[in-house]
Amino acid sequence: MREVPLLDLKRLDPELEDELQDAFTRVLKSGYFILGPEVEALEEECASYCGAEHAIGVSSGTDALLVALMALGIGAGDEVICPSFTFFATAGCISRTGARPVFVDALESSFNCDPEDIERKITSRTRAIIPVHLYGRCADMAEILDIAERHDIAVIEDAAQAIGAEYEDRRAGSMGRIGCFSFFPTKNLGACGDGGLVTCQDAELADKIRVLRVHGGAPKYYHGVIGGNFRLDALQAALIRPRLRRLDDSSLRRARHAAAYNRLFEEAGLTGGTSPPLRLPETPPSRHIYNQYTLRCSNPDSRAALREFLAANKIASEIYYPIPLHLQKCFSSLNGRKGDLPISEKLAGEVLSIPVFAELEEEEVSHVADRIAAFFKES
Ligand SMILES: *Cc1c(COP(=O)(O)O)cnc(C)c1O
Repeated sequence: MREVPLLDLKRLDPELEDELQDAFTRVLKSGYFILGPEVEALEEECASYCGAEHAIGVSSGTDALLVALMALGIGAGDEVICPSFTFFATAGCISRTGARPVFVDALESSFNCDPEDIERKITSRTRAIIPVHLYGRCADMAEILDIAERHDIAVIEDAAQAIGAEYEDRRAGSMGRIGCFSFFPTKNLGACGDGGLVTCQDAELADKIRVLRVHGGAPKYYHGVIGGNFRLDALQAALIRPRLRRLDDSSLRRARHAAAYNRLFEEAGLTGGTSPPLRLPETPPSRHIYNQYTLRCSNPDSRAALREFLAANKIASEIYYPIPLHLQKCFSSLNGRKGDLPISEKLAGEVLSIPVFAELEEEEVSHVADRIAAFFKES
């Protein structure tokens, strides 16, 4: 069996490749490279796909979060609640505005933030909550929206890993004040470079974000506020559009791979009993888009041994994320200590993501599951 990568962006359907080549040529010949009609078309298509009133294309998922916080006027003296068990950008952007990230613990069942811990950590300075829909599964939005409403604070959804994921019948990015998406190539909807998107329901807020996107100039060269260069390239927008048309199909394939893994691991007897060698990701009632399929090993040592065994079998795997943010060196001034967020720390020691990308073949899924079963049989 050949190598199984975690993601292979070179596996291009020929029809898609043709459409991408056409998009490239179209933009090249238009001479219009920043914002413009391709970006506007993508914005409209994404707003409709996400069930949001407004969508604003931006330079990255990170900049989507940053401009969202800026648009809400968040800065020095403010606190913003976010999970510790997430990608760095969620909290990095909070700090960059001058506000303080306040980390909450995760739930073992969903890897997402624990609504009870959110409520405990609200203070008079709390201005926003940023739930992350980690790995493509929505956070407990009903509870989070309820808490936010009772305390009159904004919810910014970090939907970077979750475009098209659903909570009950609503889509990621359409539930909070603002939704933030990334088109980084490893996300379910990836560009051929960097890109991001902000969604919101409120026209005034959408206008504010559009102005911040171009250094706060409105009209051009008249700056009422200080923004940044958060613009999206026309070329990236044009290259995303053909993939957006295939997004449902590709996310469905990921979900099929995930279901196959679940079945194969159960059949191999790896998930039963009181201390099973593997814990599978829970299947939520609403649509999970499986940006990652993430297993839990029983402890860091068994995970390290499994990873090594997989590497020796040419199967890629990755740890998203090995160090919870409250323990990162750059946040040491916030005084986070080991033991503060026990579930996040435990998950960081146990999680392992295995290949689940759409273009993976069924035999590859079976092969990965077979090798994992072999590891536990041998050990
Ligand atoms: C990828 C990601 C981001 C940042 O997106 P970029 O486009 O890489 O800047 C933010 N938050 C989460 C949860 C992500 O996974």
